[in-house]
Amino acid sequence: MSVPVVQFKNVSKIFDAGTPKAFTALKDVSFTVNDKPDHGEMIAILGPSGCGKSTLLNLIAGFASHLPVTEGEVLVRGNLVTGPGWDRGMIFQKYSSFPHLTVLKNVAFGLDMNRERLGLSRADVTTLAHDWIKRVGLAGHEHKYPKQLSGGQQQRVAIARTLAVRPSILLMDEPFSALDEPTRIDMQRLLVELWQDVEATVFIVTHSIQEAVFLGDRIWIMGTNPGHLAVEINDILPPSNGVDPAVAMTDPAYLQAIKIVGEEFERAAMGTS
Ligand code: ADP
Repeated sequence: MSVPVVQFKNVSKIFDAGTPKAFTALKDVSFTVNDKPDHGEMIAILGPSGCGKSTLLNLIAGFASHLPVTEGEVLVRGNLVTGPGWDRGMIFQKYSSFPHLTVLKNVAFGLDMNRERLGLSRADVTTLAHDWIKRVGLAGHEHKYPKQLSGGQQQRVAIARTLAVRPSILLMDEPFSALDEPTRIDMQRLLVELWQDVEATVFIVTHSIQEAVFLGDRIWIMGTNPGHLAVEINDILPPSNGVDPAVAMTDPAYLQAIKIVGEEFERAAMGTS
């Protein structure tokens, strides 16, 4: 049995512990995500606001704002998480790119930092950066700055710069929430297409049940007071491989899954799961 990609062992996180402001964001969270070679896995995380979804992602990312955990262990490939690493890429709702760098330099930045690990020459970095820019549909925009791009295009830059360094874990915190519906569907299409190539394990926090059902191989629904993993759903989720998100939305199997997940979500939000 190989080492799990990510494992939480009885993790609790209390912010401002020991002070009057102490707040339990996560309580006794345990899960194991095993490696699925040649595939990766997409885990969609849903839950009411404030139930600790971002906290869970930030702990996997190893951000100093969230470490250490108060109790338990967060392990990535068997190692305790003590800080960020290039093996874990994070995409936020906004501002995932450097505002002072062009699209080309944004995408080349991570590749440059990882030249040795990835065995790249300087020329390879430029070639790969151009290649990723093309793959996310931004050819012709290489010399623009993020603020000169639309919200959807900015997320394309974030996806290119994050996936280019081939993280084995991709953490996405409501990456498409700020986008309009057609753009969001375009981004879902792009993510599925690229993910099949990168084969990363993906944790995606979303507030959209439809998005969770389309993207997730499994869905975790979190509950509040304090934040915990309430339910895991996988057996009713139709496969997304090769399915267009716009078409999926009219498929009875999807609509049925959306209904069931919606009911579980309601239950978690009301604190009854
Ligand atoms: P979600 O992503 O589910 O909306 P978060 O993980 O962002 O929830 O936050 C969970 C709870 O922890 C919230 O009540 C939030 O206010 C609190 N919290 C998050 N980060 C911090 C922090 N750095 N310091 C204090 N409280 C925090």
